Amino acid sequence: MDYDTYGSTAVELAIDLANADRDAGPDWATAFLRAHDEWFEPGSVLDLSPAETGQAATTADLVRAVAVAQSEAEVMDRLNALLALAHPKPYATDHDGELHLHYARPDAPLLEQLTTTVAMGLSQVVVQHGWQRIGVCSAEGCDDVYVDTSRNASRRYCSNTCASRSTVAAYRARQKS
Ligand SMILES: [Zn+2]
Ligand SMILES: [Zn+2]
Repeated sequence: MDYDTYGSTAVELAIDLANADRDAGPDWATAFLRAHDEWFEPGSVLDLSPAETGQAATTADLVRAVAVAQSEAEVMDRLNALLALAHPKPYATDHDGELHLHYARPDAPLLEQLTTTVAMGLSQVVVQHGWQRIGVCSAEGCDDVYVDTSRNASRRYCSNTCASRSTVAAYRARQKS
């Protein structure tokens, strides 16, 4: 699947945000930003206020809502709700040594940069490659979301771990019956 590099990494930021562990405590969103600090100008203050953390949760919920949607109409609805929170302002940068575009300016508030990048990255993949490309893991006990980059859109699990766990479980179930 040949989506462009920036779109690809931006959608991964969206997936990681939806899968972030919010039970980790009130600082979960700040911890998330620290783990993804390559998206922000060096020296950015990555501490979010409780209100901003709430907004990050809203963005994460909308990404998950797109992943669990069962039809194109549902995906469009939820994608548009997410896009309504975005303020795209394209910005050319070479912060990693290679010239590329960001969807948000580095002087925009941090949470606005996060939400805009997530919304644009997710929508770009959906409109270019189809609404079924964003899904939820089929493994029992796992509800992580994923982006399906397989050639024939056949992915069902968030990770190889979940895929093999499910294969083993299905095998055992067959043995029993
Ligand atoms: Zn960049
Ligand atoms: Zn999984």
